[in-house]
This record gives sequence, structure tokens and C-alpha cells, in this order.
Amino acid sequence: MATTRLAIDAHEIRRQFPFFQPHPEMRSVIYLDNAATTQKPYAVIEAVSHFWAYQNANVHRGGHGAGAKASALYEAARECVAKFLNAREPAEIVFTRGTTEAINLVASSWGETFVRAGDEIIVTEMEHHANLLPWMRLAEKQGATLRVWRITDDGRLDLDALRALLTERTRLVAVVHISNVLGTVNPVAEICRIAHEAGARCLVDAAQSIAHMPVDVQAIDCDFLAFSGHKAYGPTGIGVLYAKRALLEEMPPYQVGGGMVRIVSWERRQWAEPPAKFEAGTPPIGEAVGLHAALDFIDSLGREAIAAYEHELTEYALRRLQEVPGLRLHGPVPDRAGIFAFTLEDIHPHDIATVLDTRDVAIRSGLHCAHPLGERLGGATARASLAVYNDTSHIDALVEALHTTRKVFGYA
Ligand code: PLP
Repeated sequence: MATTRLAIDAHEIRRQFPFFQPHPEMRSVIYLDNAATTQKPYAVIEAVSHFWAYQNANVHRGGHGAGAKASALYEAARECVAKFLNAREPAEIVFTRGTTEAINLVASSWGETFVRAGDEIIVTEMEHHANLLPWMRLAEKQGATLRVWRITDDGRLDLDALRALLTERTRLVAVVHISNVLGTVNPVAEICRIAHEAGARCLVDAAQSIAHMPVDVQAIDCDFLAFSGHKAYGPTGIGVLYAKRALLEEMPPYQVGGGMVRIVSWERRQWAEPPAKFEAGTPPIGEAVGLHAALDFIDSLGREAIAAYEHELTEYALRRLQEVPGLRLHGPVPDRAGIFAFTLEDIHPHDIATVLDTRDVAIRSGLHCAHPLGERLGGATARASLAVYNDTSHIDALVEALHTTRKVFGYA
């Protein structure tokens, strides 16, 4: 595969990441656990370190210059996210700790206000716990019903099955953009359209798509969308909730405290406008600066170019994985993202990951925080997942290590 043809040179990109440079404290590994978290480029590490060293102050509080500068950096990060998602305005961007907190925010604030006894919430069978447990808990609390949109045998969502599930009591459809297990890329714009026709809201979990393809909230027309910085080359501890302005206006605060209120007296309180209304307490300031640098890094490569490159790498991986006897890959083929959950012969997935680790190939194994999906798939799986710094040599090393694993466990 000629990587330069697609304007992405993974070898050149790896030079921008300290994790891939030789270091006395580090064993060099082929990193294929990107769905769990991505590595960080120098640009992100340096932006964060520069902030803590020279720009640190609290935001939206101090009367001093350092506070004004930190506030400007924090709001510049919000503007960057708004542009990245093509939101209508920065006020539609709420900073959170990650995807998990963003979805919990929606379930608590919007859910406890607008979901009533007898209402229905639709979740898909392929959701990560982050987009499942908040809705399970909300349904129990409000006396609502959770409806499960089952996957097809090849790991896709059938839109007619959604149409059949929707009723006039459906308040929300919660759907993952790219499955963290199956690699399925869901048609979220179509799903939102169908949900809206039935009068329901739609929330998209973009944790696995944000760094790998263009994500445009106006084109998708989702009501809510969530992602985490750390899966997009940025820091941990920062994530984003996008929500349409009108929804944020009518939602009550999630947490209360400093920074989210205009007037507090013994008699009354007046909340700040969104997004401040949802950002109680000192926010993750340095992390927002790091997220800004991470999104700039992604845009410096180009999201179309990343998607095209990873698509070609995924096709290569699908071809090469087929060569391994006894390997059973889950999820759709060939139309999918670069996340490969599989089993190999009767070898336990934890054992696969352990043997691969001895060959310096880092993958994940287990149920990937999607237990109901794991149940449907018949148990735990090993999972390799790609990012823009991976290339065909990494897939070759994975395949080689899988052949070794078979031998270690006595398969000829
Ligand atoms: N949603 C999906 C699809 C994920 O893959 C993950 C993490 O793996 C999450 C949500 C949760 O992200 P975080 O732990 O960063 O909140």
C-alpha cells in the first residue's frame, strides 16, 4: 500500500509522537489499542506543559491579566471545538470530563426533566456502557421503558427495525456512531431523521468516530453528541457535550456551584447562560488547551485524508486477518471502521493479548465495556484498533503474532 498516495505518511506522523521514539524507560511497541486511548503528539504535550508553566490561572474569575489570558485560551478551545463539529455557535459546546460525563449530564438534566413514567428510550444493542447505563438508570428512576434496538447477525443496525420500535412515547434514540467492538459505522444522520419524524430526540456517541472521520453536527442534525479528548490525540479529563442551543436553554443545571450562576441570594438563584450553566466549578483548563492542540493536529492532517487512509488500512487488515486459521472476526465486512474484535480458535482472548504482548503488539481483550453486546457475541474477544499513525507493517506484525499464538497453544 502506498501511504503517500493518500497524503498520509504514518511513519512521518509517528515522528510527531514521543511514544514512538526510542527511550531508555520504554519498550517499543506496536500500539493497536487506539479505541481505548490514543497516544499524544508533541504538539499536545507541549501546549499543555506550556499552559501549566506559563499561562496557568483560573478562568472567568480573576480580575488580573493572567486570568484574562487563561479565560481567552479556554474559550478559544471552545470555539475550536465548535468549528471542528460545525456547531452553530460556541455556546452549544459544554466541556465535560469525557464522553461518559457528557451522556450522564444529558440523562440527569434533560432526562429527568423531559422523560416521564410510561415514556420510552431506544438504545442499540451495540452501545458502550457509557451510552447504556445512564439510560437504564434514568428509565428505572422515571418509570420509563428501555427499548433495545437489536443488531443484525452481521453487526449492523436495520433502520426498519428502528421504525418498528418508535412510538409516540419514544423520547430519545441513543446511538453510537462507530461501535467500539464491531467497528460498524452507523448512519447517524438517517437515524436522527427517523427519530425526529417520530418526535424523538437523538443522541450520538461519537467517542470512536471523532478522530477518524468528519463529524458535522448540522449535517447529522443530532440533538446531542458526545466525545472524549483522549481518544482524539488529546488529554484525559476533557470531553465535549454538543447540544442544540434551544435544548441547553430548557435544561436545568447538572451540577451546581461556582461559575454557573448569575445571582445567588437566600431567596433566589439565577443560572448563567449555557454553556456556563453546565460547567460548575473550576473546569479542566489545561486539558481544554490540550484538546485545542489535538484538534488542530487532526485538522493539520485533514479528516477526509485520515478517513481515506484508515479505510485503506482497514481493508488491508481485513484481507490479512482472513489468512489466520481459526480467526473469527465480528462486525460487518467490508464496510467498517478500523476496530477488529475477534476470537482465535479456542484460545481465551486474555491469553491472545498476553502472547501478543510478548511480541510487542499491544491490543485489548475482554468485553470492552459492552456486556450486553458481549453476551450476543458469545463472550469476550480480543480487539485491535487503528489510528492514523499505524501502517501496514503493524498489521503484518499483528498477523505474525497471531500465527505465533496459535503455535504456542498447539494449533498446527
Ligand atoms: N463510548 C464509546 C463508543 C467508547 O468506546 C467509550 C470508551 O471506550 C466511551 C463511550 C467512554 O469514553 P470515556 O471513558 O472517555 O468517557
